[in-house]
Amino acid sequence: GWARHDRRDHAVFETGRAEAERRRHRLAAAMPSALANAEFLAHYQPLYRLTDGVIIGVEALARWQRPEALLRPADFITLAEHTGMIRPLGRYLLEQACRQGARWRRAGHDLLISVNLSPLQLGEPTLAADVADILHRSGLPAGNLQLEITESAALTDGYAALPQLTDLGVRLALDDFGTGYSSLATLSWLPVTNAKLAAEFITDAGAPAVTEVLRHTIGLCHALGMTVTAEGIETQDQERLLRDLGCDQGQGYHFAHPMPAPALTERLGIAHDW
Ligand code: C2E
Ligand code: MG
Ligand code: MG
Ligand code: MG
Repeated sequence: GWARHDRRDHAVFETGRAEAERRRHRLAAAMPSALANAEFLAHYQPLYRLTDGVIIGVEALARWQRPEALLRPADFITLAEHTGMIRPLGRYLLEQACRQGARWRRAGHDLLISVNLSPLQLGEPTLAADVADILHRSGLPAGNLQLEITESAALTDGYAALPQLTDLGVRLALDDFGTGYSSLATLSWLPVTNAKLAAEFITDAGAPAVTEVLRHTIGLCHALGMTVTAEGIETQDQERLLRDLGCDQGQGYHFAHPMPAPALTERLGIAHDW
């Protein structure tokens, strides 16, 4: 009957949960040695200027190469935040990205290197000093580095760190813009030079009401001296629409998936077929 069925479903659910919990424990325990063994790396997704299809930068996205699979941030970033590993891991990934950026720069590609920061990193008192140190050691000019922060992190943990970072000459981007809870007033004083429109927004860009919200959001950002990047562009129609709306940059599977550094190197100099 129903009762027995329920119990069995519940047991399956519990088993699944216990399994997931064991997997999290295994991954958490493996992280320190994985960091030492260079199992973490960045994949790079190009950022395209929408007016002419030129790659003006890349976003570094964390990956974990396990023997059995390549893990994405959803599998380990939150976990690393819970264990505190996000601090050494974040520093490591930032340094890798800056070193790669300096390498591309030496090869004649002057790219903006955009790196995601965890709210926990943003709350660290030594963040600006760490960033300055990493820039110095990697040889990447501060103006080539962009740090992506979320609205909620900027409003809480990151409050004090932001001016220290901009004083270094590093650029700040507001990631997943439009999904957070910051008021429009916040935008007027945050020292951010780029807004990244959340993919959720872009998916429905063609719906008339959404188009109007996007048009005015882009106009507002421009009026405040910010450039605008559309994330998650997956179709030609979205690309065309965002360009017509005056959006500055685009990123998404329509142009390119995130890829290892050597594959990205091959792409540089190849403009998207407009
Ligand atoms: P995000 O910063 O918003 O990065 C964009 C995510 O969207 C990436 O997922 C990217 O692969 C994915 N994406 C790109 N184009 C498309 C598209 O056309 N369609 C769809 N559906 N998705 C697209 P990914 O690499 O899995 O990263 C997920 C999130 O993990 C990132 O979101 C960021 O918040 C976080 N993350 C990634 N790397 C790092 C890191 O080094 N440090 C920290 N703290 N967080 C990171
Ligand atoms: Mg990002
Ligand atoms: Mg984003
Ligand atoms: Mg995100």
